[in-house]
Amino acid sequence: MAPSTRVGVIGAEGRMGSATCGAVDADDELKLVAKVGRSDSLEVLVENGAEVAVDFTTPDAVRANVEFVLDKGIHAVVGATGLSPEDIEELGTRARGGTARLFVAPNFAMGAVLMMRFAAEAAPLFDTAEIVERHHEKKLDAPSGTSLRTAELMNEARDGPWHVTQTENETLPGSRGGDVSGIRVHSIRSAGSVAHQEVVLGSPGETLTIRHDSLDRTSFMPGVLLAIKKVATLDGPTVGLEHLLDL
Ligand code: NAP
Repeated sequence: MAPSTRVGVIGAEGRMGSATCGAVDADDELKLVAKVGRSDSLEVLVENGAEVAVDFTTPDAVRANVEFVLDKGIHAVVGATGLSPEDIEELGTRARGGTARLFVAPNFAMGAVLMMRFAAEAAPLFDTAEIVERHHEKKLDAPSGTSLRTAELMNEARDGPWHVTQTENETLPGSRGGDVSGIRVHSIRSAGSVAHQEVVLGSPGETLTIRHDSLDRTSFMPGVLLAIKKVATLDGPTVGLEHLLDL
């Protein structure tokens, strides 16, 4: 039998962290060796010989955690929101300098990865695009990492600028959402939700809506497990689950 990969989970007491602990525990190829909560020292990862650390903490904590992990030669799989492109660049340089690899996924759900891909394919063919994302009321950040990543991929796929919409007088500030280079992003926070997103594209006489719903945190687990198993094989810092899938 192949030796199990030793996994530590940071943010183990949170919603995503505890789901990840359960999924790792249930996987024959993986061994859960460390559960790090807010009051625990990251040193338990080293003491227990973790080879991969998964971070599902908070935007204020994730960067320092990933720095620690990479410096100790432990591969990092990051699900927490909050790393800026500059953070990822710097952490990537740190990872390149050592033996540990860095993998970051704004969204571990397979359907969300496909939603982003379809939205990027459609982006060059429409005049306007807006994103409406909806999450549970306890989510600390807005907009979601997924919505920002979707807008980034759509803007990269498009040659010219989006058609500018004509709202001259925003009588309630913020009602047109945040602007990501021409794509307006709207964030709903609602009890009863998990993670949902609609990309609405428009051209004269037609709209195209691409929608994804994570109805339960189990939707993220196949992607998390795949990332844990593949992170050591990556050439360099990698952002996005699509890079681990044969699409
Ligand atoms: P959550 O339930 O609030 O869990 C976060 C946990 O991290 C809490 O238990 C928190 O402890 C703990 N924590 C904070 N700082 C810590 C530190 N320095 N060391 C160890 N633990 C620490 O939130 P969640 O819903 O699980 O989401 C966690 C993150 O994952 C968020 O950033 C969310 O946006 C992101 N997310 C990503 C995906 C994806 O597919 N990539 C999917 C869902 C969520 P306290 O309770 O004491 O603060």
